[in-house]
Amino acid sequence: MTTQKYHKEALAHPVFKTLSHAAQELGLEAYVIGGYVRDFFLGRDQKKDIDIVAIGSGIGLARAVANELPGNPKVTVFKNFGTAMVRHGDLELEFVGARRESYSRDSRKPIVEDGTLQDDQNRRDFTINALALSLDPLEFGKLLDPFGGLDDLEKGIIRTPLEPATTYSDDPLRMIRAIRFAAQLDFRIERDSLNAIGVQKDRIRIVSPERITDELHKIMATDKPSIGFGLLHKTGLLGYILPELVALQGIEEREGQRHKDNFWHTLEVVDNIAQATDNLWLRWAALLHDIGKAPTKRFDPKVGWTFHGHEFVGSKMVYKLFKRLRLPLNDRMKYVQKLVMMSSRPIVLSNDYVTDSAVRRLVFDAGDDVEDLMTLCEADITTKNPKKQKRYLKNFQLVREKITEVEERDRIRNFQPPVTGEEIMEAFSLKPGWEIGMIKEAIKEAILEGEIPNEHGPARDFMLEKGRAMGLSPNTNKP
Ligand code: ATP
Ligand code: MG
Repeated sequence: MTTQKYHKEALAHPVFKTLSHAAQELGLEAYVIGGYVRDFFLGRDQKKDIDIVAIGSGIGLARAVANELPGNPKVTVFKNFGTAMVRHGDLELEFVGARRESYSRDSRKPIVEDGTLQDDQNRRDFTINALALSLDPLEFGKLLDPFGGLDDLEKGIIRTPLEPATTYSDDPLRMIRAIRFAAQLDFRIERDSLNAIGVQKDRIRIVSPERITDELHKIMATDKPSIGFGLLHKTGLLGYILPELVALQGIEEREGQRHKDNFWHTLEVVDNIAQATDNLWLRWAALLHDIGKAPTKRFDPKVGWTFHGHEFVGSKMVYKLFKRLRLPLNDRMKYVQKLVMMSSRPIVLSNDYVTDSAVRRLVFDAGDDVEDLMTLCEADITTKNPKKQKRYLKNFQLVREKITEVEERDRIRNFQPPVTGEEIMEAFSLKPGWEIGMIKEAIKEAILEGEIPNEHGPARDFMLEKGRAMGLSPNTNKP
């Protein structure tokens, strides 16, 4: 069922002529396949990675192409995968030899054999990703679309080339990829596929966390991440990936008191933050900001539902979750932990009268992340009452203004004590000891409370006074 259609305009870049020539020299058939072709038909921003499949050695073709390209770029070979990569300007050319894969149910690794183009298209995940354009000089740009992928692109459908049960069972990551593409492209997953995912969801256990996390990040990066996360939830996959989130789902009622559904609330918050920022880690913080609410949920007949300390508990949960998903355990994780931990701080501020000292403490604790924290809090407003929404936003605006004001005056961000430990030791002829820490802490407190400005002179006077009050005698030898 090969469609006799040519799409030379998709291959207008001169590199395709080079590819075509090199393949001809080697006597190989070669095709552009996958994301590049799909995105051409979608009129999407053309991506910089181009997948090329050769009927024969992909690595051999990569070497020949690199030889023909100006500057003879390096060929990076991934032996285990039988693939190779060549960079050309801002393009990344990925080469693979056409292959047939056969899977047995109990092994994750397929038996891989050389195959035809059709074999290779069969092992692709979706019809829209199996579209291939010929690089043969005699039929340059001919579309090979054995599964009606173009039709699916037009209709906005995610469909597998083979029986969904086979495609998903062969590589269960494809279940998440289906959702990822549906979310990215605003497509609908065809019903049989969706059902198959529901049936096979348990097999996601055999997929490595790194691969899952890659797809999760692509879902997280979409304009409306709730679409992807909603599908992950609906299919039951989310329970294997982020059970902490699933635990937030549901509304309980006792003595006529209900709490909100913190799962759907969280997804709204993530959508809101996606409007405000591309920062992936801030999006993670939004996704996880309420995870402590499941383990801390209590019902108190006097006050209703409470989630005391959920910020602390939630931030403690981040490490295990990051470790499990092979997310970085470095300062990015610390950033997420900190934002989860502090996620309610500005809310308290905006409810009450905002004192300068409370704002100084917020800036002291949040440091350079204080703006991100404010963005998170604003995204956290999901009330459907427009009056309330307006009031909350206005209150946060006031907090932001206060932050700027206090910052200009007191420079609390990345606080450095205006009086050093050495100066304290010298002032009272002290050896290192607990007194130094105590005086330093007192100075910091006095600054945060607004009793003294964040300046050396007043801080030194305060230090002398404090020392005397502690029964220390000032060193009179030196000024
Ligand atoms: P994007 O670059 O936006 O992620 P893409 O379609 O290029 O989209 P890649 O993950 O780069 O996605 O994969 C390139 C191509 O390789 C896909 O279009 C698809 O044909 C094939 N492919 C990738 N992963 C799988 C998989 N798990 N199973 C089957 N085919 C896959
Ligand atoms: Mg790609």
